[in-house]
Amino acid sequence: TTLTSALLYLDGVNVTFDGFRALNNLSLALAPNEMRAIIGPNGAGKTTMMDVITGKTRPDEGDVMFGGTVDLTKLDEAAIAELGIGRKFQKPTVFESHTVADNIRLALKGERGPWSALFGARNHIADENIDKVLEKVRLIEHRERPAADLSHGQKQWLEIAMLLAQDPKLLLVDEPVAGMTDAETEETARLLREIAQDHTVIVVEHDMAFVRDLDCKVTVLHEGSVLAEGSIDTVSANERVIEVYLGR
Ligand code: ADP
Repeated sequence: TTLTSALLYLDGVNVTFDGFRALNNLSLALAPNEMRAIIGPNGAGKTTMMDVITGKTRPDEGDVMFGGTVDLTKLDEAAIAELGIGRKFQKPTVFESHTVADNIRLALKGERGPWSALFGARNHIADENIDKVLEKVRLIEHRERPAADLSHGQKQWLEIAMLLAQDPKLLLVDEPVAGMTDAETEETARLLREIAQDHTVIVVEHDMAFVRDLDCKVTVLHEGSVLAEGSIDTVSANERVIEVYLGR
């Protein structure tokens, strides 16, 4: 991916917290409709990278460019969300007492929830579009049930559907399969592969079997930089990656 054709690129990004380099000259480029898995040991900088993309953390140095021309480092979180960058945090945050369908409506209205500020203006969704996103995440038969009735995995999918209803261009998904059953994990990989057919997706994940199942390019972060990049087979055979993971 050349930088000009990338949907998103980070170039030479540095983030320092109290003298500690959380991101160290980090560079990364994603093509439109690419899915990318980000792996790396604890403290590698994965969360900080997501925070930089979504405007939660401003880098000390470096470029974060979206769509070739938009400099994300100049925008706040709400403006970045407006551009069509949606983030799903690790824990599902659905409205438990509301129906599955109303969760989609509420996501668009932004009435409450940690991401409420992100969904300001867009406030209407046709029922057929609710059905469309619920079909995609296989929750259509639960449409009128309270979200509280869903399994942990189904809540994660509902939250993904809440993001999809925004029609995002870029989805950031943080450890989606933590706490899921094997069957739910497989279903999540299928769902993300499907979403990546017409969205650009970044998935941060620890579960290597799941990452393999995503069938996408993998970036290994270590100490705030890219340690290796390539297929799951390429990176898992990389000597430096093995050292980092085995602590040798
Ligand atoms: P990962 O998500 O890969 O586990 P993080 O991005 O959370 O890594 O963290 C990278 C490093 O930056 C860690 O050493 C972490 O302790 C440090 N760090 C992250 N956020 C802050 C913060 N707000 N203040 C100080 N240090 C931080």
